[in-house]
Amino acid sequence: MALPVSAAASALIARGLALGGSASRTFPVFNPANGVHVADVADGTADDMRAAIAKAKSAFPAWSTRTAKERGAILRRWHGLVVENADALAEILTLEQGKPLAEARGEILFGANFIEWFAEEAKRVYGDIVPAHAPDKRCLVLKQPVGVVGAITPWNFPSGMITRKVAPALAAGCTIVVKPAEDTPLSALALAVLAADAGLPENVMTVVTAARAAEVAGVLTASPDVRKLSFTGSTRVGKLLMRACADTVKKLSLELGGNAPFIVFDDADLDAAVAGAMATKFRNAGQTCVSANRIYVQSGVMEAFARKYAEAVRALNVGDGFETGTQIGPLINAAAVEKVDGLVQDAIGKGAAAVLGGGRHERGGNFYAPTILTGVRPEMEIAHAEIFGPVAPLTPFETETEVVARANDTPYGLAAYFWSRDVGRVFRVAEALEYGMVGANEVLTSNEGAPFGGIKESGIGREGSRYGIEDFIEIKYLALGGIAAAA
Ligand code: ADP
Repeated sequence: MALPVSAAASALIARGLALGGSASRTFPVFNPANGVHVADVADGTADDMRAAIAKAKSAFPAWSTRTAKERGAILRRWHGLVVENADALAEILTLEQGKPLAEARGEILFGANFIEWFAEEAKRVYGDIVPAHAPDKRCLVLKQPVGVVGAITPWNFPSGMITRKVAPALAAGCTIVVKPAEDTPLSALALAVLAADAGLPENVMTVVTAARAAEVAGVLTASPDVRKLSFTGSTRVGKLLMRACADTVKKLSLELGGNAPFIVFDDADLDAAVAGAMATKFRNAGQTCVSANRIYVQSGVMEAFARKYAEAVRALNVGDGFETGTQIGPLINAAAVEKVDGLVQDAIGKGAAAVLGGGRHERGGNFYAPTILTGVRPEMEIAHAEIFGPVAPLTPFETETEVVARANDTPYGLAAYFWSRDVGRVFRVAEALEYGMVGANEVLTSNEGAPFGGIKESGIGREGSRYGIEDFIEIKYLALGGIAAAA
């Protein structure tokens, strides 16, 4: 069956598959909107990963000693090519991930911004000269790339989560091996094709596609040649990787799960809060780690908020990401639908009410009906689990103190949002929320200039911003002695 993509996207897919290598085994990629087979991708083995690490190690000396200006120039060319090919890349993304085409295009440009940003930051990795403790000595602080980096990325942002890691790594002078998610390897390969076109030397960035994630990732985590692992994915796998990295004391960046509270105080601009709750809950069909997961509404405005929210959710268009007007695509696969539905049925079984939705969408397959639940209580699984689907649980609250305590009552600490027009409350609540990112009257928190990351069990390190490159840099202290006084 012909794929629903342009000739440019097909050509990019074909070049990506060729780049992926001629492994003896392959694994299939499917379109989550209709189950149609899209491609067979090289199923990398432990040996393939070992070879990729060896090549990244051999490429490191030449890449790390290029000037920052040269590295930045290649990154800028890569950025240009990603922007030029944004339409084709968006089609590939929708094809394997399912999100609406306009959203996919948004992700491609969002991801490209990180390449541009770090192309610029490459030149601003300054060391320090510390005032010396003796007249004949000098204390210098050098900043050096950590070395070979391993990156393991998820399927929910198959492009953006890669550029957010690869761009700062390359800017800093590291070489990198990427293992993308098995559901969405084509976007990763397409990015690698464009990086090569931009003049990135061979082996500086290698993509190893693999269906057997644990086996192949095990080689990355065990290798003493890999000095850092950057992972975005579930908290469960993040903990496994953290343990696996202990033996080689690898540097780690972890972007893990979230359980974002979304709080609407009774002084909020309700229409703005509803718009925010739509964007943060239903973007990518709720499959983001910063999606609102628990919506707390102060009891005085609950009825009005719930009414406006239901109206907006009812109007959402569910469909194939390639269809014009689609706002919610399918979930990534059958297992994801199973998981989301399990949470919804558990909540309904324990007394929650589905104001809207409450089950699979009539289109069948991987489509799930946008759902609003009321009467969600702590004994329901949905009150604690990361939903990762288009399901919004509403819970009333009475006071600021109560809601802040409930919002913080979770092992996660990625993103939190709240809506209030009281400036005192804005500062109080923002400071009291135990999260790496807080949106006050705002839900779109991620951009290339801002530090994205979590605290508690949501992660370690920051991506994006001037802090993002530090995750790929080691500090070396150079003590200089013997600077005797002139004769
Ligand atoms: P999600 O729940 O979003 O699929 P995962 O944490 O399962 O998140 O997946 C994120 C990335 O981690 C993917 O690239 C996946 O292949 C990889 N992964 C999954 N399980 C393991 C594992 N046991 N060891 C290493 N990587 C894994």
